[in-house]
Amino acid sequence: MKNMLYKAIIFSFIIILSGCSASNISTSGRRESRVKNIIFFIGDGMGTAQVYAGMTISPEPLVLESFPFTGFSKTYSSDNYVTDSGAGGTALACGKKTRNNMIGMGPDSTDIASIVAIAHKNGLATGVLSTASVTHATPASFVAHNITRNDYEGIAEDFLNGTADVFIGGGEDNFRNRKDGKDLTLSLEEQGYDVVYTMDDLKASGSEKIAGLLAKEHMPRVTEGRVGVLAEMTAKAISTLSRNKNGFFLMVEGSMIDWGGHAKDFEYIVSELLDMDEAVGVAKEFAENDGKTLIVVTADHETGGLTLVGGDRKSHQVRSNFIQTGNHTATMVPVFAYGPGAHKFTGIYENTFFLDEFVNLLRISK
Ligand code: MG
Ligand code: ZN
Repeated sequence: MKNMLYKAIIFSFIIILSGCSASNISTSGRRESRVKNIIFFIGDGMGTAQVYAGMTISPEPLVLESFPFTGFSKTYSSDNYVTDSGAGGTALACGKKTRNNMIGMGPDSTDIASIVAIAHKNGLATGVLSTASVTHATPASFVAHNITRNDYEGIAEDFLNGTADVFIGGGEDNFRNRKDGKDLTLSLEEQGYDVVYTMDDLKASGSEKIAGLLAKEHMPRVTEGRVGVLAEMTAKAISTLSRNKNGFFLMVEGSMIDWGGHAKDFEYIVSELLDMDEAVGVAKEFAENDGKTLIVVTADHETGGLTLVGGDRKSHQVRSNFIQTGNHTATMVPVFAYGPGAHKFTGIYENTFFLDEFVNLLRISK
């Protein structure tokens, strides 16, 4: 018996050795295809409880559940154990911890380049999508530099810096109903952007540069009629950006998972989470066919201290509770990755970890 086991071990060792020499596997033991495109989803306020609530409520498995690599991200900011979406977005976009409320700046108020700016500089196509106003903290962190997230009109002016070829969300008023009377959409058009205000015009646009301002301020909630819109925005952004033969970087935000948490509204959270998962499905379908697209899904922080205190998997029901504050919490947030390079995103790391990994995987320079 012992002898047989010994033979079996030797035999499998020989198979492994011959397998190595035959297929020329890298030192990491992994065959990697090149990463050409990255799609980065941020579920604002999406902790593990929010994800598991969605998994329980949904009659079908979430797309997220099919992602083969998972990790955890530590979300604290440079000045607070509990981050806001300004510092959280800046860490994800620019790879640096900063003070709460700041956008695209270090704690010393100097501008930092985001992955969108870096990808643009390297000739990739870039996009930023949000169900909130595009000037809101999360999308703003990828494009703008501001000492305060509340300067929406100042942040809108930074969208004239041309780093995002496609940006779609709400925020029309910040561009053309401003205190200074300027109409920034005229400048965008001069730069070659197709500025559109409806989903029909967005879908019809053949431009490589699109500014989609689909609401005066924020877009409506899923439960108030925004059904499937983020998935359609994602599909349009992918079909537009993928025309660039150098590749693309696209950030997609599910903004209102956070707002459901602030409102302590469980249905609001779950409807927004499932809506983002549908958009993840659109991205995954593209990535499956493409083979060179990495998808990473994470959050900037958890919101609401959501806990799941009971439920039933068969009838897809959850009993939930929130901590008293109705605000953000400090817990680690989950990370899900699919595609070439996805194995890099397993483990526990800082929320500043993504930028360098993205730059390295895309083989671009800062
Ligand atoms: Mg946000
Ligand atoms: Zn929030």
